[in-house]
Amino acid sequence: YQELSRPRHEDNVTEQVSPTSGLIARPGPPSIVEGIEGCIGNTPLFRIKSLSDETGCEILGKAEFLNGAGQSSKDRVALSMIEIAEEQGILTPHSGDTIYEGTSGSTGISLATLARAKGYLAHICLPSDQAIEKSNLLLKLGAIVDRVPPAPIVEKDNFVNRARALAKTHTASSGIPSASAEEQSDLPAADDRMTRGRGFFADQFENEANWRAHYEGTGPELYAQCGGRIDAFVAGAGTGGTISGVARFLKPLLPRLNVVLADPQGSGLFNRVVYGVMFDVKEREGTRRRRQVDTIVEGIGINRVTANFEAGKELIDDAVRVTDAQALAMARWLVEKDGIFIGSSSAVNCIAAVKTARKLGPGHRIVTVLSDSGSRHLSRFWAKAGDVGGAVDTKLEDVMNA
Ligand code: PMP
Repeated sequence: YQELSRPRHEDNVTEQVSPTSGLIARPGPPSIVEGIEGCIGNTPLFRIKSLSDETGCEILGKAEFLNGAGQSSKDRVALSMIEIAEEQGILTPHSGDTIYEGTSGSTGISLATLARAKGYLAHICLPSDQAIEKSNLLLKLGAIVDRVPPAPIVEKDNFVNRARALAKTHTASSGIPSASAEEQSDLPAADDRMTRGRGFFADQFENEANWRAHYEGTGPELYAQCGGRIDAFVAGAGTGGTISGVARFLKPLLPRLNVVLADPQGSGLFNRVVYGVMFDVKEREGTRRRRQVDTIVEGIGINRVTANFEAGKELIDDAVRVTDAQALAMARWLVEKDGIFIGSSSAVNCIAAVKTARKLGPGHRIVTVLSDSGSRHLSRFWAKAGDVGGAVDTKLEDVMNA
């Protein structure tokens, strides 16, 4: 038993800015906000102590898992897509309109939550290889869920294409042409929900409301939280919305900022950034978009240039390729050393942040994104990672060389 040697509260009240209390440093939101939507954004930025101490850099994590609706960075995007559709008269709150989306999970969870808050229905298509807790959660939220076999984007039964086609078959669809006879024949019969309200395809990959949410929220928040001093921003791309929106906001203000893409194994974006081509020149044109991104990591890695990646791709300075083994080892490390329990894409970002720190050298400030919590990944990524148990002496070299 040890006495705590912390000063008593009254000892030094005015100077007592506790290094452990984010509450003191966190810019206060208004004390009462309107609905669950009001709990989105303004997430804390914190120093990841183990990685900072090991590298001599300041490695900061944006705690996006603390967004209040769907508990991921996708809350910002879902809210932005819905609000812009409302402004354009495409969606009307409490009308029973249906929002369709193809998603690896996080965007669907955010959309399904906000749909409930605003009186819409959500119909979510997601690949069947994603962690089962995501589709279970969607069902709890009252979404209609289609788990479809994983397929490349050029296949018509790909999850995104299916969501688009379903939206088109909705009796009154907004802003999209109706489904072709061929599309209709492959879809389940319209259920009674499809005769109510209108159908809206949110389209996170191509809808530019996505990067704008990060341009208007994540980017300005980071700039303010860092007092305008950031040397590198590191993020993966699933749709490209985060990296494009943040880079578009920060680069004009900080022209020397390094924007670094963290790319999981199997994704084509690393080659696109580093060599200017999506795939190995040996690979034949035409086969490229047929390839699935082969990784255990969920939410990031793509084999095509989406509108949201296009919006910022010229601002990306470098890319880091991260293996599944490294991501698994980093996820365990963050629990072991810091008590940080994050999902697979955040682990990829942290590997890339350490590589960036080593490239730039000590004394730099590197910001990355912690997109969601490990609890979304228990049955797949964390099942592979295993229990951390009593581990205390893992070396960072072992993580980086995993
Ligand atoms: N992490 C997770 C868990 C995600 O679901 C996503 C988005 N699919 C991302 C990161 C990547 O963000 P973006 O789509 O903005 O590139």
